[in-house]
Amino acid sequence: MSRGADETMTREGLHGLVANRLRNVSQRYTSGRRVLVELLASAGHPVSIEDIAEQAPGLPRSSAYRHLVDLQQAGVVRRVAANDEYFRFELAEDITEHHHHLVCRHCAKVVDVTPTPAFEQAMSAYLTALQEASGFVSDDHRLDVLGACSACARALAHPPGGALRGLHATAVGAGGP
Ligand SMILES: [Zn+2]
Ligand SMILES: [Zn+2]
Repeated sequence: MSRGADETMTREGLHGLVANRLRNVSQRYTSGRRVLVELLASAGHPVSIEDIAEQAPGLPRSSAYRHLVDLQQAGVVRRVAANDEYFRFELAEDITEHHHHLVCRHCAKVVDVTPTPAFEQAMSAYLTALQEASGFVSDDHRLDVLGACSACARALAHPPGGALRGLHATAVGAGGP
């Protein structure tokens, strides 16, 4: 499930490609941008600005954010919605590989999942049928699955104080009409 860009291309190849894409939009591959690309490639999952601040304390948040916007414009970085308020960042899919996301609504954690070839075939058949019906010509898709990660699902099933509430409910039930 965890996947880094180093599995699909060498780190040197990655930096060369990023430098090229930045050059195409008249931007330079500065050391700050290099730190970010290195961090995104190593993470293997979408990272938040908080993760970046933690892992690259030498890079001020404001410049990290500016670099991410520039890298996004150059087609190197993609924004992933973690929930309605927060975004996470990852390397563009054509640099890594096509994947989907599991998004936890509770802790906003985002995990990458690689779909099976059978799923992608079914999706492609569905999109072809959709095109025939609606005329919409799709060339890509994104799939974010929303829910609770395993840790949050466990916490939701067994909330702290849940046993006490259970006892209280029993007492109320017993004393009720
Ligand atoms: Zn969670
Ligand atoms: Zn897909």
